[in-house]
Amino acid sequence: MWFCSPLYPFVISFLLWLNCGMLIVMSLALIYISLGTNLGDRMVNLRLAQAALPPEIQVMALSSVYETEPWGFPDQPPFLNLVLKAQTSLSAPALLATLKSIERNLGRRPTFRYGPRLIDLDILLYGSLVLDTPMLTIPHPKLAERAFVLVPMAELDPDLVHPILRKTILELLTQVGDKGVTRFA
Ligand code: ADP
Ligand code: MG
Repeated sequence: MWFCSPLYPFVISFLLWLNCGMLIVMSLALIYISLGTNLGDRMVNLRLAQAALPPEIQVMALSSVYETEPWGFPDQPPFLNLVLKAQTSLSAPALLATLKSIERNLGRRPTFRYGPRLIDLDILLYGSLVLDTPMLTIPHPKLAERAFVLVPMAELDPDLVHPILRKTILELLTQVGDKGVTRFA
């Protein structure tokens, strides 16, 4: 019998190793993505961006839509913002590339920093991943200072803990306050 062979333990170990590897490869990350827009029909932009998400990003929950005073550069129309919670099989860089291509396909054209935009898709959190590269920083570096991100996140998961600051979303929101952010839809 083959299982009496001296190779049996090695075969079993190999199969277990393979199985673990597949589990890791197939595991899903819990992500939070912020959507923002202040040009054109803002509600349509938010809906089109959600509709453009590929099957690798499975939306689990959506916050309400909030209207927000512009941040960073005040002389521009107000924003609509929402946050979505999803599961993804994409790696963090692949997720960023996907979001950037949705922005381009919807017609976003480059402007200046904090300037008006048709659609902005940012990765807020990717599980408990901490990453700092020239292309991608996770958690999003401005997460803890932006009420327009913290208000919708707190609506979804107030007790979620920021992986670096070790504070909950509600604690961060309490520090920042919700001034300038009103429920829109
Ligand atoms: P904003 O910072 O206002 O969102 P952009 O959408 O133009 O401006 O993003 C500028 C760059 O920020 C992107 O090209 C991307 O490489 C980088 N970036 C770094 N971290 C993130 C993140 N967590 N989510 C989205 N983009 C990020
Ligand atoms: Mg962005």
